[in-house]
Amino acid sequence: MRVRFWGTRGSIATPGPGTNHFGGNTSCVELTTANGDLLIFDCGTGAHRLAAALMAQGKKAIHANILLGHTHWDHIQGFPFFSPAFIKGNSVAIYGPEGSRGSLHHVLAGQMEFTYFPIKLDQLPAAITYHDLTEGIHNIGGVRVATQFLNHPAMTVGYRVEADGVAMVYLVDHEPFSDELWRAGAEPGRIESILHEGDRRHAKFMADADLVIHDAQYTPDEYPSKKTWGHSSYDYVVQIAAAAGVRRLALTHHDPSHDDAFVADIERKARALALQCGTALDVFCAYEGGELTLAPHSTLKPFATAVPFQASVAQRHFHILVVDDQPDMLTLIGRALQDEQYTVSKATSGPEALRMIDEHMPDLVVLDYKMTGMDGMAVVKTLRAKPESRLLPVLMLTAMTDEPSTRAGFEAGVTDYVTKPFSIPQLTARVRACLARSKAPQ
Ligand SMILES: [Zn+2]
Ligand SMILES: [Zn+2]
Repeated sequence: MRVRFWGTRGSIATPGPGTNHFGGNTSCVELTTANGDLLIFDCGTGAHRLAAALMAQGKKAIHANILLGHTHWDHIQGFPFFSPAFIKGNSVAIYGPEGSRGSLHHVLAGQMEFTYFPIKLDQLPAAITYHDLTEGIHNIGGVRVATQFLNHPAMTVGYRVEADGVAMVYLVDHEPFSDELWRAGAEPGRIESILHEGDRRHAKFMADADLVIHDAQYTPDEYPSKKTWGHSSYDYVVQIAAAAGVRRLALTHHDPSHDDAFVADIERKARALALQCGTALDVFCAYEGGELTLAPHSTLKPFATAVPFQASVAQRHFHILVVDDQPDMLTLIGRALQDEQYTVSKATSGPEALRMIDEHMPDLVVLDYKMTGMDGMAVVKTLRAKPESRLLPVLMLTAMTDEPSTRAGFEAGVTDYVTKPFSIPQLTARVRACLARSKAPQ
């Protein structure tokens, strides 16, 4: 398996003398299997030069699979310049996460309306197909590919590709689920010691991979002022990859304000941290033009999920109960969910919520932890004690990230924790992920 970086910059293309080494083009990675299957991860501005390189190979027909992590600008802006799509006889299969507003085709067509671009998406001569993905195991271009939702203020998936006896995992863009990575009192450096279920699931998804390509836009000093923007700092990435037994780690999605010297410094610090973790993890900062060949090994264990589903939730209608004793929060969250076309009911206390659930079972409960009288945890315990609400997904909102409350919450049956302050797109993405998981065929 061969992997080549065509775009390593996050947020906005940043060409210039200061970014010559690590590169100024936005996200785009090419993967070619031994069979010649072509998988392209993200279609940022780096896709333009990749396209030129593909055309220069002089093949009779190009069959490309484009796997979008999500559809923010820096991941799709290169698509209108992906020249193989302009040639009849070529085929382009585009994959991306099921969004909350319209299909993948709809979103990509949006950036090619005449206001923005002179050629419409549906005028492109190549055979283009669109595939909206949820979590699960998929067959893409003859390759086994697993997807898993990431934590980003948009529906975003990570990809795990298993082919040629190696595993390559692409995790861009993603932010830690919790400020604290490790459970208090537990031995750090192990997947079992990870505090938040989301970070634990994230670690398992990359377990034993030969190469992980991961968003590491920030330094630990920068991260606190960029929280909820959906990106990681390198210390989180190195620690979680080390715990997951990853062999090689490419840090990418470099911040536009970081020049080559700054990114090189991140690389030095990330390597020092990997050494401190006591693992053989080989970490580097991805640079444009960088190429790796991954050699097969005999110990590759295929990634397995408990529920290898591919069910769609896009066309289904959901009823969400929001429970909060603060009227302003209730209004804010209720309005945001209504904007996403959910039916929303509201309760201002735990007992009121339980009564409403008894009368009419919602598809999901968004529940505040700290409420006067009965708190969120007591509500969850009551729900889990009844067979009819044992599996009802509960998304807990909390201002606390400390142990033991988060861990105790998960153990009591909380489905997911979102820490305040959160952004509305971050919350709606987490709601969508909860619903997709809960509606999977069991
Ligand atoms: Zn991005
Ligand atoms: Zn993004």
